[in-house]
Amino acid sequence: MQLSGQVALVTGASSGIGRAVALAYAREGAKVVVSDVVADGGHETVRAVQSAGGQACFVAADVSRPEDGQRLVQAALDTYGRLDIACNNAGIGGPQAPTADYPVDGWDKVIAVNLSGVFYGMKPQIAAMLRTGGGAIVNIASILGAVAFANSPAYVAAKHGVLGLTKTAAVEYAAQGVRVNAVGPAFIHTPMIAALENAPEVQQMLLALHPIGRLGTPEEVAELVLWLSSPKASFVTGAYYPVDGGYLAR
Ligand code: NAP
Repeated sequence: MQLSGQVALVTGASSGIGRAVALAYAREGAKVVVSDVVADGGHETVRAVQSAGGQACFVAADVSRPEDGQRLVQAALDTYGRLDIACNNAGIGGPQAPTADYPVDGWDKVIAVNLSGVFYGMKPQIAAMLRTGGGAIVNIASILGAVAFANSPAYVAAKHGVLGLTKTAAVEYAAQGVRVNAVGPAFIHTPMIAALENAPEVQQMLLALHPIGRLGTPEEVAELVLWLSSPKASFVTGAYYPVDGGYLAR
């Protein structure tokens, strides 16, 4: 087991990619703090971990609140005694509109969850990891952390910001044993894009963006997150890894 004896936390772990990451961490022996604003799904994730023989607990937290980021880390320390791994995954899609028409409240919300939420999480996570000699943080960005997507200015800006934050923290803490990396999924079958997938013409448009000819699964993203979180990635920090079926290679 790659993560035996380690303690991990995952935000936005009630569904989709976060749930798959929590399950992958637990499968490899980590004790997992499953967190989300949505308690029902979070408890379901914990039950799925436990029925696969792993250990997990649920802590409700809204990543857009700095005090929740702090409380989440404290819960990991109180429950399992340390924090070795954090996956900052919680995110929202936000409104769809061109920049000139984009609603300011939608902008504020997307930036608060998708960018500030990662910062509020990393602050106490890094502090806790430094106390035990290091750790690994994986931030879930997007292909839209690297390229534009019309009608999603807040999402694209936030995900680009996550890459900057990832690189900055990586160079600040590399010598102290904290590795920080970002992952960039293309379109993945999760509740976040379920509405898009319901329209056949949109589905065709999305498929055409992925040379591999299909969308990804949460489990395919989780395998990359797992590797980056594990000692196998000991020389990898400040990096951005797409997991995108060839989307960015076009
Ligand atoms: P998902 O299934 O909707 O999961 C995201 C989870 O985060 C949901 O349970 C959501 O709760 C929760 N969440 C939302 N706001 C939160 C907050 N303020 N605090 C804590 N939790 C919050 O979506 P997903 O596709 O797995 O997305 C996970 C991450 O991958 C996101 O950062 C997303 O931007 C990124 N990503 C997804 C795709 C894709 O195609 N699916 C592609 C690239 C990147 P609610 O259900 O209540 O909102």
